[in-house]
Amino acid sequence: MRFGMLNDVTRCTGCRSCQAACKQWNDRKPEETKNLGTYENPFSLSDNTWKRVKFVEKEKGDDIKWSFFSYQCNHCGDAGCMAVCPANAIKRNKKGAVFINEKICTGCKYCLQACPFHIPHTDEKKEFHQSAHFV
Ligand code: SF4
Ligand code: SF4
Repeated sequence: MRFGMLNDVTRCTGCRSCQAACKQWNDRKPEETKNLGTYENPFSLSDNTWKRVKFVEKEKGDDIKWSFFSYQCNHCGDAGCMAVCPANAIKRNKKGAVFINEKICTGCKYCLQACPFHIPHTDEKKEFHQSAHFV
């Protein structure tokens, strides 16, 4: 059985509670960020940020119109990351979630290339160690 994931962008207010909850639930460290003229922070996923809210800002006259999108692993039904992993380190659990077994991962980074959504990230300090990036 497959599950669907609905992200209703018409209801998202950009509060980033989901971003904070993901950090807390998965025990991820905070990251130092910079204010680059937008409320969007951080600017990319990482080994410590598995979910983030994208802010799309468009000028409309004197106003700025915001659109928000909660960005994370889609737990794809046909997951490219799983298909290419030579170590068979990426699995799907009974509820359909795709996750990585860091103990088996060899750090080849094939999954980084295979994911069309640029979700997997490596740990900068351990270059060849693939950080867990899926919930
Ligand atoms: S890492 Fe990418 S390809 Fe793999 S399940 Fe998540 S979104 Fe899909
Ligand atoms: S980096 Fe790890 S999880 Fe990704 S494809 Fe290679 S062995 Fe598999």
